[in-house]
Amino acid sequence: MSERLVVIGGDAAGMSAASQARRLKAPEELEIVAFERGSFTSFSACGIPYWVGGEVSERDDLIARTPEEHRARAIDLRMRTEVTEIDPARRRVRSRDLASGAEEWTAYDKLVIATGARPLRPPLPGIDAPGVHGVQTLGDGQALLDRLGATEGRRAVVIGAGYIGVEMAEALLHRGYEVTVVNRGEQPMSTLDPDMGRLVNDAMSGMGITMVNDAEVTKILTGEDGAVRAVATEDAEYPADVVVLGIGVRPETELARAAGLPLGEHGGLLTDLSMRVRGPVADGAVWAGGDCVEVLDLVSGQQRHIALGTHANKHGQVIGSNVGDGYATFPGVVGTAVSKVCDLEIARTGLREKDARAVGLRYETVTIESTSRAGYYPGAALMTVKMLAERRTGRLLGTQIVGREGAAKRVDVAAVALTARMTVEQMTALDLGYAPPFSPVWDPVLVAARKAVAAVRRTGG
Ligand SMILES: Cc1cc2nc3c(=O)[nH]c(=O)nc-3n(C[C@H](O)[C@H](O)[C@H](O)COP(=O)(O)OP(=O)(O)OC[C@H]3O[C@@H](n4cnc5c(N)ncnc54)[C@H](O)[C@@H]3O)c2cc1C
Repeated sequence: MSERLVVIGGDAAGMSAASQARRLKAPEELEIVAFERGSFTSFSACGIPYWVGGEVSERDDLIARTPEEHRARAIDLRMRTEVTEIDPARRRVRSRDLASGAEEWTAYDKLVIATGARPLRPPLPGIDAPGVHGVQTLGDGQALLDRLGATEGRRAVVIGAGYIGVEMAEALLHRGYEVTVVNRGEQPMSTLDPDMGRLVNDAMSGMGITMVNDAEVTKILTGEDGAVRAVATEDAEYPADVVVLGIGVRPETELARAAGLPLGEHGGLLTDLSMRVRGPVADGAVWAGGDCVEVLDLVSGQQRHIALGTHANKHGQVIGSNVGDGYATFPGVVGTAVSKVCDLEIARTGLREKDARAVGLRYETVTIESTSRAGYYPGAALMTVKMLAERRTGRLLGTQIVGREGAAKRVDVAAVALTARMTVEQMTALDLGYAPPFSPVWDPVLVAARKAVAAVRRTGG
């Protein structure tokens, strides 16, 4: 007898799950119905900064698969249709067609919740004024581009200095704007330790971006036309013709909460390793993945909420395999993330110092400077690598890298080492590739590992 899979959310996690389930199960065995309240499916929000900045010229280049392409693969995709209630006891969801307002119930045998995350939008005076933009969806990106096209002024304020904030600062710089970044933290990129964040801060200042740290936005000021004219903090006002919000996200789990499904302390759904939602209410029939779930941090052993497309796609793949009667697991993350501002590359994996302290780990840190290529080879650029190792065992705990070309993806070596729970001593023996155009004879990650070995030995590790 045919089963029905219902998917809520038509982007990375949801449609990866639906597509993988379809690969494993024919339409006669598994009917797939997917609900998406927006106007796009399977799009890359990650590409929005590069579309706004002009490196990517066409919006549609960011769409991996259109609704028609999904439908051609026997996925009954209902666009502009919002799921308004999950009824786990009767295994059904209620949806509303956003155009007609018509509501209906759809029964499921298996349910996937992939509702993503909601961008934070503090209730500041003026936050809804024309000219204040989020960048979560392609619609948001288009609205921002329209605003940039419609205003003569060339002053932009970005609120928030996480990776989305710094990427948007670059995009606006490329568009010829004078850019100010207003940031609550001591340094940009709070996913780094402050000493590494300071390198990012100084580099961004060097690019002509005005960095305002330790500043809380109190209101958005508007002009006579009602549109944004400045961003106010407690101490100053920053003139703005356009404002971009990049202040983080929260898991979109209101539906799940209302249905009584289990949420963790960060507000994300709790799943097991197969991405099946835990607990009696889900009754083994509900899976969840992407930005709406919490994940296990394999280094600290803590649950975390990390909103990244790389995880969402993997979750979708795992869910699709499991609902398609295969078997797959998502064991957890080590916290790897990369981004860039102009030619400055920023990477991190594992624990920051404050994360290590929070879980009671004693650690050593080392920071080294090295180059991306052999020092004598043209184009060799400086990079700074910071490494944390556990004091007693020498286990690698985290790595952060700030540098120019070739810096960011070096963090992947550390991500593998963290996953394998390697010590920094074991890392020094890693057989990494070397030729002058690619690295010095000792790769910067290995130089940091050697120095970390010495630090751990010195303190009796
Ligand atoms: C500007 C920007 C840059 C980024 N850059 C990177 C990057 O470089 N690297 C990286 O790894 N990640 C990046 N990300 C994060 C990445 O885009 C997200 O982690 C990823 O999209 C999450 O996928 P998801 O499927 O979980 O959620 P989403 O992509 O948010 O999709 C959830 C979908 O569910 C729909 N939905 C929600 N509730 C309902 C409902 N009740 N009924 C019907 N539909 C519903 C929403 O409309 C949405 O389309 C970036 C994000 C942004 C905004």
